[in-house]
Amino acid sequence: MTKKIGNVWIFIEQEGGKIADVSLELVCKGRDLAQRLGVKTEAVLLGDNVGGCVDTLYHYGCDTVFLAEDKRLEPFTVLPYAKVLMDLIKAHKPNILLFGATFKGRELAPRVASEKLAGLTADCTELRIDDFDDKINKKSYTDKLMQIRPAFGGNIIATIVNTWDDPQMVTVREGVMKLDEADTSRKGKLVNVDVELTDKETVINVLERIRQDKSINLGAAQVIVAGGYGVGDKGNFQKIYDLAEALNGDVGASRAAVDAGWIDHDHQVGQTGVTVRPKLYIACGISGSVQHRAGMDDSKKIIAINTDPDAPIFSVAHYKIVGDLNAVIPMMIDAFKAKA
Ligand SMILES: Cc1cc2nc3c(=O)[nH]c(=O)nc-3n(C[C@H](O)[C@H](O)[C@H](O)COP(=O)(O)OP(=O)(O)OC[C@H]3O[C@@H](n4cnc5c(N)ncnc54)[C@H](O)[C@@H]3O)c2cc1C
Repeated sequence: MTKKIGNVWIFIEQEGGKIADVSLELVCKGRDLAQRLGVKTEAVLLGDNVGGCVDTLYHYGCDTVFLAEDKRLEPFTVLPYAKVLMDLIKAHKPNILLFGATFKGRELAPRVASEKLAGLTADCTELRIDDFDDKINKKSYTDKLMQIRPAFGGNIIATIVNTWDDPQMVTVREGVMKLDEADTSRKGKLVNVDVELTDKETVINVLERIRQDKSINLGAAQVIVAGGYGVGDKGNFQKIYDLAEALNGDVGASRAAVDAGWIDHDHQVGQTGVTVRPKLYIACGISGSVQHRAGMDDSKKIIAINTDPDAPIFSVAHYKIVGDLNAVIPMMIDAFKAKA
């Protein structure tokens, strides 16, 4: 008799009833994986008064939404969330569970993984289903989740397989997976979940929340002008802002520029920064290390400006400008302004 495989689950992150972009991206990816396995795509939505999110989850491809609504689930605190999620996992035994690699996902996923002794791969950049031959233990597995992510400082791309599929768990950063079009005619099944919490899980009482408005959301930007160490100093970074302004775009940076204190970490693009996928990415004075490229090489069009004709950034650039950014950027600004 063949073993019945569990479904693909996505932990849905919401804030004030708005679903996080990464959760919708994971629903789309989860649907691909579920179709490949011949199982269902199921979402787990926790919070208070969040039923308004359910239809959107169907539209992006969920067959089922497990909805747990309770005052004690708002705002997010890890203990009650982990308890509700663990109860659901025990009852329904999913095969795969996807989380966003956000503050919440990074806190919740390891807690669930450690309780389940299930293993967890963080910051995956690609996921697919494949068979796996474990040559060391001489065992073969079918239809495992290939959990792909950069490793050893980004110098290799590792494929990780978790043979303890109870469930197979990963986190994925925002902007890495493609968001498909929503189909508003799609419908699904709603499962209302009874929330059972004890004093043990409700020990934390949030008295006040102070929101720091993020002025930047690079993950959603359509045009990004990014500066690197080649910009030279903090004052000269104004040129990057000027070019971004001329193009109505946002400003990104390499880690070297962030480490030098020229710009805030929120602007860092790459393996330990944000993953971006804009229509246009202009890299100015950025060498193009593997860690930087990992965060931007899916951009639709890449223009690179660098004095070094052999800079690795040119290997991913569609338009290569070998030259001094101090001369090139003002010419670009003039040209864009003349066209506007
Ligand atoms: C675990 C780990 C994680 C990392 N994560 C990230 C990450 O998320 N993002 C990231 O960016 N890096 C990351 N790094 C760092 C990365 O390895 C590089 O050190 C960094 O990307 C280099 O930044 P850069 O290209 O701005 O600087 P440099 O490598 O110093 O390159 C500067 C470039 O500017 C060019 N240049 C100089 N003057 C001019 C000029 N006047 N006009 C035009 N071009 C000029 C030079 O030719 C050179 O190519 C990580 C490293 C590690 C080990």
